[in-house]
Amino acid sequence: MKFSREIWRYAFFSLLVVNFVALVYLLVDKEKEPGAEKLTQSDTVEFDRLKEVLPVKPVKKEGLPKPTIPVLVEKNKDLHEICNKQLEAFTGDFKASKIRELCAQTQVFDQCYSQVDKTPIFHFDKNSRFGDKGQRILVLSLVHGDEGPSASVALSWMERLSEINPRNTWRVLPIVNPDGYRLQTRTNGNGVDINRNYPTADWTELAHKYWKKFAKSSERRFPGKVGGSEAETRCTIRHIQEFQPDFIIAIHTPLGLLDFDGPTMIPFPKFAPLPWRSLGHFPGSLGRYMWRDHGVPVLTVELKGGKKLARKSLEQFDQLQDITGTVAIQSQRAVKELGIEQKTPDFKTKVSNNSKKNDKDKVN
Ligand SMILES: [Zn+2]
Repeated sequence: MKFSREIWRYAFFSLLVVNFVALVYLLVDKEKEPGAEKLTQSDTVEFDRLKEVLPVKPVKKEGLPKPTIPVLVEKNKDLHEICNKQLEAFTGDFKASKIRELCAQTQVFDQCYSQVDKTPIFHFDKNSRFGDKGQRILVLSLVHGDEGPSASVALSWMERLSEINPRNTWRVLPIVNPDGYRLQTRTNGNGVDINRNYPTADWTELAHKYWKKFAKSSERRFPGKVGGSEAETRCTIRHIQEFQPDFIIAIHTPLGLLDFDGPTMIPFPKFAPLPWRSLGHFPGSLGRYMWRDHGVPVLTVELKGGKKLARKSLEQFDQLQDITGTVAIQSQRAVKELGIEQKTPDFKTKVSNNSKKNDKDKVN
């Protein structure tokens, strides 16, 4: 009798201990990734799967080393002034004092100057409150110079990042194509579509064929003479090599949708203004270059048309920023589960002095 009471007491306390451990585990897990567990089935949508099925690459569990952000910047006195002038022109009623505060934190890599005007392509960093445990998210906007609202969203994200302690580490390049922005063209100053100029594995074989056949040799979609020929393309590759993003967000206009090049098995959070639709990717596009060739998911935010974004509509993009952070976390889990190998592009972004001199002849 006494013996069996001992057993019951022992069993009861064991159960208590197990429950306590499970509770602590749940709480700790939530603390690491707030937001990710909030999604329920009704908050998510099935992503339409028009895309080619990606071959699963060989399992390699090494993962990328997480570098700390080194100081690889050129000291440029004028940088912050140029940044102020450019960002003040964005629509969205941003406060001039806030823009100055953000611009004071921007930096520029020595390779990040535009192809023709040599305007700095600056970037803004904000580290995760969890150190290197958060996802590393790279945001690119104004890849196409005539898509102004994309920059307003990027700037509103920078503004918000400066005021919160995010769960992920963010790097934002608000103006990837400053020459195209000045000229109000899709292409850069050299007449090249940066989003067809990434040196994808199939670039040499297919970029010009696709351009002629599907883009009807449109000037707006010229992929360049060689993959990676443009300074703007090389600058973003330089960032990918140095920042080593787990996830890339490219902000464009005007199609009004969310397009994802990445593992489509994850639950996609609903974002009422922009439905999830698959556009596929092209030779020389960032999605093909980073997801298909290097295993890093790319989310393309296609804002609805229009030249301007009102302050009020910018606020809803705060929610989109949280959603993208959640998709980044889920994608990384899926990439690991699928055993997809993530690689850093080994493209040489530096142009030697000799080829710099001949650069104009080569690409014009
Ligand atoms: Zn675009």
